[in-house]
Amino acid sequence: MVDTQIITRGVRDKRVLDAMLKVPRHLFTPDDLAGMAYSDMALPSAEDQTISQPYMVAVMTELLELKGDEKVLEIGTGSGYQTAILAELAARVYTIERLSPLAGMAKKILGELGYTNIDFTVGDGTRGWPDAAPFQAILVTAAAPKVPPPLFEQLAEGGNIVIPVGSKASQRLIKGKKHKGKLIPEEHTFCAFVPLLGEYGF
Ligand code: SAH
Repeated sequence: MVDTQIITRGVRDKRVLDAMLKVPRHLFTPDDLAGMAYSDMALPSAEDQTISQPYMVAVMTELLELKGDEKVLEIGTGSGYQTAILAELAARVYTIERLSPLAGMAKKILGELGYTNIDFTVGDGTRGWPDAAPFQAILVTAAAPKVPPPLFEQLAEGGNIVIPVGSKASQRLIKGKKHKGKLIPEEHTFCAFVPLLGEYGF
């Protein structure tokens, strides 16, 4: 998976590649799809949601530019696969999921894998996690109509937010750096995520 889908398409950050070699993706898929866990595609998960394509996980993570000492906020825990990658690469991960069954399953698997640097909550992630802010990096794994203002507020100066922005049908992956209190946006690949629902979402 890492050689043929991720390195060939240009992901170079060695720490990201190592994390993707280490985390067992088949533990995060529904049991009947475990055989496809390392395929080049997004997979359906419980509650009509999706587990992002491995390449998309790699690109989004690389764009965050994690060095290891960050507090990261993730919106859309889903299966918890992306959460595990972030937990490998940052000091602490705060992850928010609106669907409690998904959060429960992710918490269980990530606990069994031995991660102790992840905080979980169930709720509307478009409001962020004010009590734990500021975050040096924020990752949104669902499609947003715009960058939710609370997330921008909770991003530390110099930090990066990575988020798919567009319509419900298709989006552009945006990386925004907070520089002198302003968001400097950079456009990346086109993508199609499930919608971010909530106060500042769809
Ligand atoms: N990154 C995960 C999930 C991607 S699917 C994975 O690869 O498995 C996007 C997830 O975002 C879904 O689980 C959906 O329920 C969740 N979501 C959508 N809107 C949300 C919101 N406002 N707050 C938190 N989670 C949300």
